[in-house]
Amino acid sequence: MRSNNKILFNKAKRYLVGGVDSPVRAFGYVGGDPVLIKSGRGSKIYDYDGNAYIDYVLSWGASILGHARADISAGLIKRIGSGLNFGTTNEPEVKLAEIIHQAVPFVKKIRFVNSGTEAVMSAVRLARGFTKRDLILKFKNSYHGSADFLLLKAGSGLATLKIATSAGVPDNFLKDTLVVPYGDIELVKDVFKKYAGQIAAVIIEPVGGNHGVIPLNRGFLLGLGKITRDAGSLLIFDEVITGFRFGFGTVASKIGIKPDLVCLGKIIGGGLPIGAYGGSRKIMNHLAPLGKVYQASTFSGNPIVMQAGLDTLKALKKLKNGYARLDKLAEHLALGLRRIAQIKKVKLTVEYCGSMFSIKFNEKKQFQKFYRNMLDQGVYFAPSEFEADFLSFAHTTKDIENTLAAAEKAFDKI
Ligand SMILES: *Cc1c(COP(=O)(O)O)cnc(C)c1O
Repeated sequence: MRSNNKILFNKAKRYLVGGVDSPVRAFGYVGGDPVLIKSGRGSKIYDYDGNAYIDYVLSWGASILGHARADISAGLIKRIGSGLNFGTTNEPEVKLAEIIHQAVPFVKKIRFVNSGTEAVMSAVRLARGFTKRDLILKFKNSYHGSADFLLLKAGSGLATLKIATSAGVPDNFLKDTLVVPYGDIELVKDVFKKYAGQIAAVIIEPVGGNHGVIPLNRGFLLGLGKITRDAGSLLIFDEVITGFRFGFGTVASKIGIKPDLVCLGKIIGGGLPIGAYGGSRKIMNHLAPLGKVYQASTFSGNPIVMQAGLDTLKALKKLKNGYARLDKLAEHLALGLRRIAQIKKVKLTVEYCGSMFSIKFNEKKQFQKFYRNMLDQGVYFAPSEFEADFLSFAHTTKDIENTLAAAEKAFDKI
């Protein structure tokens, strides 16, 4: 049968590396051709053969309002008519900064950039410039974008042996990054003792979203707050996924922890490329043009992106009380999957936190079968057990019930 998807993907493979611009999109983990998406509306996306899918990827967590919302599109169309980029400060940019400050009051000043990766890289540079120290501590299985010095995993031992997770990263670039397992506060204390006066910052995803979902551990985060404060280091929350995911604000603001810097991205761009980092005036003023830490970009604060972000956050502000419903829907789905799996005697782990969830099987093969079967039934999950899935405000109880009905059939096949 003639498939437009297949024709397009074969052509993509000719000109794009692996047919994609970001590796996980290639479906290497689940096997088979990826679906290529032509359009989306609400909670659904449509491939080039006209098949519909309930979308739980949502642009890797960015599209929290669902796809093609009329109000967001209208704001963008109007903005586009006035030109695309000027490389100057503009009104939607200032307003987006203001609404983020209102939602996350400890972010007194912010700097917009073009991606989460850029936000993290720049926040770390700022932390190093501010503290005049070099070392950075991160946690195993966390992901903070694709900067060289963060693409590493821990070897055994106390944050000493390090292994790059990508070719092309010189060992030398990793020497100032320490990696420890997540959740072990005593180990963090030991590392701080060993490297006394040398650690610029600790960076952490307050809810893990890049090794399946790792739920909130408030005690651990509070512990990190104390350790970094006592040591004169900075605490950086990477909230590129979690910012505005669990409420109108960040995890930090929700649980009453004030990190020194917060990185944002994904949701705050309303589906367009964005990143941002912010914190107190004292720290942020170390950035050029006021301070000595250099960071710049041609397209940062682009008015189209800023408009999309602003209108998205305005909509989320109005939906403030709707987050509870969103979390309930996710719980309905997660508990439903667990219950059906138990009845069907399929061994799996479903983690969830707010409207984020992840599904892991005992064997990779089972996940692959489950994944392809769900796809055939019109359900689009992240194509890896280690990527998180998400709900949007456009998802309905009917979507969840249809997904559970599909899972029941899929479990019979594995
Ligand atoms: C997605 C992500 C990033 C990187 O953001 P990009 O916009 O893809 O560069 C960084 N940190 C976390 C926690 C992320 O989920």
